[in-house]
Amino acid sequence: MVQIFGSPGKYIQGFGELHNIKKHVSWIGDSYLVIASKNRIKDLGEIIKESFGEGFKLIFAEFDGESTRKEVKRLMDIASAERCKCVIGLGGGKVIDTAKAVGGYLKIPTVIVPTIAATDAPTSTCACIYNEDGSLDEEINFDKNPDIILVDTEIIMNAPVRFLVAGMGDTLSTYIGARVCYRGYKDNDFGAKPTETSFAIAKLSYELLMKHGLLAKLACEQKVMTKDLNKIIEANILLSGLGFESNGGSSDHSFYYGFCDLTHRKEHMYHGEYVSVSTLCTLVLEGAPKEEMDEVFNFCVSVGLPVCLEDLKLGDMTEEEYKIVAKGVLRCKSTHNYPFEVTESEVIAAIKTADVIGKMYKESKRML
Ligand SMILES: [Zn+2]
Repeated sequence: MVQIFGSPGKYIQGFGELHNIKKHVSWIGDSYLVIASKNRIKDLGEIIKESFGEGFKLIFAEFDGESTRKEVKRLMDIASAERCKCVIGLGGGKVIDTAKAVGGYLKIPTVIVPTIAATDAPTSTCACIYNEDGSLDEEINFDKNPDIILVDTEIIMNAPVRFLVAGMGDTLSTYIGARVCYRGYKDNDFGAKPTETSFAIAKLSYELLMKHGLLAKLACEQKVMTKDLNKIIEANILLSGLGFESNGGSSDHSFYYGFCDLTHRKEHMYHGEYVSVSTLCTLVLEGAPKEEMDEVFNFCVSVGLPVCLEDLKLGDMTEEEYKIVAKGVLRCKSTHNYPFEVTESEVIAAIKTADVIGKMYKESKRML
């Protein structure tokens, strides 16, 4: 049995820590390509310039908004022409994916500075590349995780609270998916078995959510930093990232991919918001104990994560649409990590049942 645990080279988290970026990354070299949106360059570019000071070349490349092949190629060309020794991705999901792809293809060190804690993408090896029309082109797994993750909690604290809550939805899925792989000796995202370390990390991410999730949200709403918020930022970015990649998953993200197949629908929610419902469907699908379902549904309602289809603007799904979603769920490899066969009718049953349980919890009724 081969086990693999992967992680970024170093993870740094601190209030105002972007001011110290030079201290953490300057060992890499003297020239950096910084990829960020126009607004982030405007807000945070000066802090980076001031930190590095004299003697370093910083090229700020404005991100065009989509992580497409064309955009990755354009940024790779800039990095090559300017002989950049490192790429720094400063922003949310798509900037992070693009920076990972630029660094991964050029085989140069990659630094990720997330400005929101909405997903666990910063630490992982994979980058999603989209087509020009916004649909997913490919999920690329690079050979290594980013070299440095620098989380400035002041920036995360000041971002809209909906991002932090969506990140909790993404984190919620990690342990629930991981345990299926761990207990069944299934492969993780590195094509090997999970380690005790990775499983303990996944479990911890769940425990932190239950203990500190609501308090973290309340602090973030007030734009103040507390120990609870600090713990949830670590859970959303570091623990969930290590936990999903080094353990693997079950159907915790499969329902999300299924919902994404409803391409004719115009309204879109955040990744973690779909994943929240995807995780609730997963609990029904696997027949989780009532006590656990109660804890998870209750948690989601308390922090304001979606718990039913209506919350995802999918309250009017037709039977045909259920079938489209179910096909998407069954197409995901990880759905088949269960020790039982998953069928289309079971998938649809899980969605419909999770939906009514979710509605019940929103009306303050509980199963217990
Ligand atoms: Zn996710």
